[in-house]
Amino acid sequence: MLTPSPGGNAHKESLYDLTFSALESALVEDGLNAIHTRALWKALYRGGGVSRERLERFSPPLRRWIEARIGDDAGLFSDTPEVIADNASSDGLTRKFLLRLEDGQTIETVAMGYTGRMTACVSTQAGCAMGCVFCATGQMGFSRHLRPGEIVAQVLHARDVVSQQGGHSLRNLVLMGMGEPLHNYDAVLTALEIIGDTRGINIGPAKITISTVGVVPGILRLAEEKRGYGLAVSLHGATDAERSTLVPAGKRWPLDELIAACRTYCTRTGRRIFFEWTLIAGTNDTPAQAQRLGELLAGIDAHVNLIPLNPTGGFAGGATSAAAATEFQRVLRAAGIPSTVRQRRGIDVVAGCGQLRTERERSAA
Ligand code: SAH
Ligand code: SF4
Repeated sequence: MLTPSPGGNAHKESLYDLTFSALESALVEDGLNAIHTRALWKALYRGGGVSRERLERFSPPLRRWIEARIGDDAGLFSDTPEVIADNASSDGLTRKFLLRLEDGQTIETVAMGYTGRMTACVSTQAGCAMGCVFCATGQMGFSRHLRPGEIVAQVLHARDVVSQQGGHSLRNLVLMGMGEPLHNYDAVLTALEIIGDTRGINIGPAKITISTVGVVPGILRLAEEKRGYGLAVSLHGATDAERSTLVPAGKRWPLDELIAACRTYCTRTGRRIFFEWTLIAGTNDTPAQAQRLGELLAGIDAHVNLIPLNPTGGFAGGATSAAAATEFQRVLRAAGIPSTVRQRRGIDVVAGCGQLRTERERSAA
């Protein structure tokens, strides 16, 4: 199961890759009683982790099992990422982290605060293969998928930082960091099962939103498996021609297929879908485009999130004016579609997806 492999290999497993039942199987396979699973799980998710220094608290068989697996590589074993940047927004409500993984890849994790309740925004890939032209992550290209443990570790990091800030608890999770979650389906779903386990982190499907560029087979699979996660679909254009210039994935999964998959998702899960629309001045922010969006979403239990563009180095567009955003909303409302204008929180901490890593790499160069 947990075969430690030589250093430098990005595909090694850590304990945080395993669901409760997979961890139980690993222990049983190695001749331990399944009863030990709870103690190890509790240490991983409610007790500050597992390290060489903290082995005394485990029963002797479990201690020996852990010791044998720590080997020379306790860092990998525990999947704790190295924090290489920690930026707080001026309003103090958002903290954005750049985390270095074991093979040197860097990813972004954000903790967003509201009084008493916090939301974590995590990455699912290092880079992204989807190439949306306005997105800093898309501009850097794809490096690799994250393992489940690398996704789980981001949530643990956000949770622990948030609890140190005092009076806050991590309640919600959004997969809106770097990467396309449904392009890394199995690892993401395993991570979400671990994160939802009531004996551990305990953030369940109702509190989790998966944001996708519109990977139709992934949406259909989620619907088929009736997972109950919240779904956000990034549209940005209401015709294939307009959408594909911003979102190249739109050529692979055209709007008729995408909207049909969304209808299936609503029917099967009974959940409302959020549609994300990055407002780019003069590109996709006209009343006519709002009208077409309203027509496209007719009959779907939809809520549109309008996000004024966060300008990036690799894209010439600018953010929509407040007046244009208000008019866009008015047209949508007339078509019966509710919407919210979301200022991307903490723009002063380079909080656009992928922008912190890009900025770091530029200054390092
Ligand atoms: N890959 C997924 C999730 C990560 S991106 C997806 O595309 O949905 C999360 C959201 O941020 C998406 O809606 C994306 O379009 C938006 N986004 C990315 N870069 C942005 C930018 N520079 N300004 C505004 N929104 C941006
Ligand atoms: Fe990838 Fe989402 Fe960025 Fe598009 S917007 S490049 S899918 S992370």
